[in-house]
Amino acid sequence: MIILKGIPAAPGVAVGKAYLFDRGEPTVSRSPIAEDQIPKEIARFEQALTTTRHQILEIQKRLAEEIGQEHAEIFNAHLLVLEDRTMIEEIIAQLNRDRIVVEAVFSDVIKKYMRAFAKVDDEYLRERTADIEAVRKRVLRNLLGTRGESPAELREQGIVVAYDLSPSDTAQMQKEHVLAIVTDIGGRTSHTAIMAKSLEIPAVVGLENATREIHKGDLLIIDGAHGEVVVNPDHETLQRYERERLRIQQVERDLVKLKDLSAETLDGHRLTLSANIEFPGEVDSVIAHGADGIGLYRTEFIYLNRTDLPTEEEHYRAYRSVAERIQSQPVIIRTLDLGGDKFASHLQIPNEMNPFMGWRAIRFCLARPDIFKVQLRAILRASAYGKLKMMYPMISGVEELRQAQEMLRHAQQELRQEGIPFDARMEVGAMIEVPSAALTCDILAKEVSFFSIGTNDLIQYALAVDRVNEKIAYLYDPAHPAVLRLIKQIIDIGHANNIWVGMCGEMAGEPVLGLLLLGLGLDEFSTSPVLVPEIKKVIRSVEWRWAQQVAQEALTLPTGREVEAFARAKLKELLPEWVK
Ligand code: PEP
Ligand code: MG
Repeated sequence: MIILKGIPAAPGVAVGKAYLFDRGEPTVSRSPIAEDQIPKEIARFEQALTTTRHQILEIQKRLAEEIGQEHAEIFNAHLLVLEDRTMIEEIIAQLNRDRIVVEAVFSDVIKKYMRAFAKVDDEYLRERTADIEAVRKRVLRNLLGTRGESPAELREQGIVVAYDLSPSDTAQMQKEHVLAIVTDIGGRTSHTAIMAKSLEIPAVVGLENATREIHKGDLLIIDGAHGEVVVNPDHETLQRYERERLRIQQVERDLVKLKDLSAETLDGHRLTLSANIEFPGEVDSVIAHGADGIGLYRTEFIYLNRTDLPTEEEHYRAYRSVAERIQSQPVIIRTLDLGGDKFASHLQIPNEMNPFMGWRAIRFCLARPDIFKVQLRAILRASAYGKLKMMYPMISGVEELRQAQEMLRHAQQELRQEGIPFDARMEVGAMIEVPSAALTCDILAKEVSFFSIGTNDLIQYALAVDRVNEKIAYLYDPAHPAVLRLIKQIIDIGHANNIWVGMCGEMAGEPVLGLLLLGLGLDEFSTSPVLVPEIKKVIRSVEWRWAQQVAQEALTLPTGREVEAFARAKLKELLPEWVK
């Protein structure tokens, strides 16, 4: 038995067999074959094409059911590559000529195609090389009988162990098969962690050597809340975790009973407790966990897993369906925040040395008004059907905010001229996630209706700690006095300017720190749907006046460790049964 310690990414305990995923280059031999083996090689090739086709159709079907037809359509391009008769005939002709195993011939021909596509002037065609590459690897793996390269191919229940997972991997995962996720890299606010939480799959990230220490078929216990992975546990450990799993289930059952109660302190201070979502399909979970609407709808996923840009109609349908399904509750749509660790390969965002500080979010949108305007028009159109609000990510100063607002006004004007209805009074807010915005929020507050503090980014920029780098994860400290001071300042200045202040970073889902945020005067908490009941429990268990005193005292402490320990001890006084 060995115990690996990583970064807690999504809560829950899971026990299951390890499945390793590897996206390395398949090794292809160039062994010669005799002439009479040619028909057998052709049959093998055709069989690999058929298998690949079935795999793609199956992924497509599941994607369409789980996250929508638009995401499934990306694979149409893969199917087209598979069905390209000219290429298939060329492979067969070359097989007859070269007399080497078909995987080598296939690899040679398809690489030639990729080189040709990469050179053409037409951007659309150039982008098809990514589809050809995906098909190449899939067919090769089927020819060679090697293991799958994507967790989407998991056929039975298991624990996904990978170096890293791309947004398209996580989007394709089948929830009923993936018991837990373990990765070598990443931090608690990396894309994988956020997705795992939204899929309600326990996850530990940043283990560094998980793919080396864990072997296919090993029995694993994952404790997502504590960042622990036990490899091949003994009987006693298994029993201990089984008890923990049952305890968590009981706590969850108790918490769900709070569903219809409001997020109100014992002395009657009412807050808004919302949920974060990435897909329209998560609305059911938001409702089931008793949130007061959606405080962050991340819209990046509309752009991922596809080869073209989403149309205004696709955006509009997604936003409208969320607004309508959540009925009278508010929904805050965050405009596109691609970049950082979320990429859409076809948008050709260049590789950058510092992607989190690079061409991302509002910077990208302001540079590409053609793309931004499509989304703004769609949000406005959907605003006629529910209580929509909108916010801009990564605002670093008032000039960016003004430029974005100017584009919004432009979109409004167009819609007015076209006679298309929208909510002209829709609230527009700014995410405060860059220290320069936090320090100038008195200026920003005069031009928006609300602030939402994005601590995932604010912490990384304030403390100079890359949020996805596991090596420095110990420095990524939401309780750091610098972070608390920034948050206090944003809240106080927001209030002095009569606007409400929320928080949608992962910090808003941590009960111990929630006590401090409550005391600092935060008006809205927005977190993953699964964490909503726990935060509600904290809010409903305290007097606001007391939480304010706790927060004041926490602000005098010199280190994050002391702040955390202090807040934990205070919360434990109130809720001894579930604070460790
Ligand atoms: C944040 O930075 O806190 C946030 C909510 O945005 P994202 O995690 O999508 O960057
Ligand atoms: Mg952010």
